[in-house]
Amino acid sequence: MQTISNAIAGQKQSSNTGQIQSVYNPATGEHIANVELSGANEIDLAVAAAKKALPHWANLPPLKRAQFMFKFKQLLDAHAEDIAREISREHGKTHDDALGEVTRGIEVVDFACGIPTLLKGEFSRNAGPGIDTHSDRQPLGVVAGITPFNFPAMVPMWMYPLAIACGNTFVLKPSERDPSAPMMVWDLFTEAGFPEGVLNIVNGGKPAVDAILDHPDIKAVSFVGSTPIAEYVYTRGTAAGKRVQALGGAKNHMIVMPDADMDQVADALMGSGYGSAGERCMAISVAVPIGEKTADKLIETLAPRVQTLKVGPSTDSESEMGPVITSQAKEKIENLITSGVEQGAELVVDGRNFKLQGYENGFFTGGTLFDHVTTDMDIYKQEIFGPVLSVVRAKDYDEAVDMINKHEYGNGTAIFTRDGDAARSFADQIEVGMVGINVPIPVPVAYHSFGGWKRSLFGDHSIYGPEGVHFYTRLKTVTTRWPKGIKSGAVFTFPT
Ligand code: NAD
Repeated sequence: MQTISNAIAGQKQSSNTGQIQSVYNPATGEHIANVELSGANEIDLAVAAAKKALPHWANLPPLKRAQFMFKFKQLLDAHAEDIAREISREHGKTHDDALGEVTRGIEVVDFACGIPTLLKGEFSRNAGPGIDTHSDRQPLGVVAGITPFNFPAMVPMWMYPLAIACGNTFVLKPSERDPSAPMMVWDLFTEAGFPEGVLNIVNGGKPAVDAILDHPDIKAVSFVGSTPIAEYVYTRGTAAGKRVQALGGAKNHMIVMPDADMDQVADALMGSGYGSAGERCMAISVAVPIGEKTADKLIETLAPRVQTLKVGPSTDSESEMGPVITSQAKEKIENLITSGVEQGAELVVDGRNFKLQGYENGFFTGGTLFDHVTTDMDIYKQEIFGPVLSVVRAKDYDEAVDMINKHEYGNGTAIFTRDGDAARSFADQIEVGMVGINVPIPVPVAYHSFGGWKRSLFGDHSIYGPEGVHFYTRLKTVTTRWPKGIKSGAVFTFPT
């Protein structure tokens, strides 16, 4: 059986901890690989390799760094299908969904190819008599990324292509639940010719994360995962003097206005609520129809679609939704469904006890739809991270906006309407970082930046795009005067 190790200083290297974790195919429940769980020693080795690679890499002209990125992008394009298959095998998502993830990751590499322009500074001639000023952004040094299971290729690519293009070197700690795709992408990165030590991967769990957070030579940490761990990473990392951006969990609402096209709404909710088995931080998990008539129409349109959702393995091209990541995740989701019933929500479609012939040991759960959910229920308050959609009926638009603004999470949200006035006021008033107007999953393109508000993001910077360039660099401003402009004699007043 394959054992997945680390990638340090251009080599695959085993860890010394002797600890491993099983990796499963969630569709079959089969144990398909082991991943080594590293600790502080391996983080030390990776940081040492990144530190060694840093002076040469940081001093290369940005145009040269971009040329490596171009080559990397070509290799990613050529191997996108293989990477997608690997993602599906360990994560369970459908092949097209996995390919979509790879494509969105490649778009960040595309953006990083523009690094010479992105790092161009500013210049002011004659800021004072004979004085010129210029500012530019310089790399931080060795930086690290810690990533979740749900986008094993894309989320790491939200981080290291841009960090590395900016002139930093990188240590990545991917999710231990689906570690193969990031290793496969590392092989392509190495094939693109990047010098050894520029990108290092250390697999592991909490001990590896803690070693990153405490390491004195790591200058910044990007984290994406659940909110409790994001908060922990932010608190411990910033206490150790690092720059940290920590993206957390979500509970994304979609307002359905009475004038919305209900077929469009139902299609949008099917894709955004049940795509990737609801294991997306931008999944819509709460639909908020305005008024009883809209709510009745929504349930009537949606219920038959949820009942006939095609749940199956990624190897079946007809599948619309795959299994969830582990048997524990399945149990947690189904326990939350039970709590919804106990707390008084109306279970319109029950995904528990879903069985698929030939895949009895897989971690499948069917699509679930709840109506009459209220804001005090656990299924409303918690991020379920499974294929469960809750309908919370609101009497009017103001009540819906107030509900969303009061939720602790503020990652994504959407409104479906034909009313431009309502849409514009929604975009203005809503306390959420990413907003869709008739767009259910408003994930910003690579040349914008991704980030939520409230407890969905700890730190001051969103990820990738222009904010990513700012996160991975620091500003330097140089003021220059040549001797001709210098008058003799000391000046003790503040320079004006
Ligand atoms: P997770 O928080 O369990 O794990 C994320 C990372 O943290 C992994 O690398 C894991 O090894 C590490 N980790 C786990 N427990 C730890 C601990 N106690 N101490 C230190 N490190 C620890 O998240 P997950 O289950 O892999 O991913 C799903 C979560 O990620 C969901 O909450 C989802 O909303 C969130 N997510 C957010 C975004 C976003 O952009 N905001 C994107 C994708 C996923």
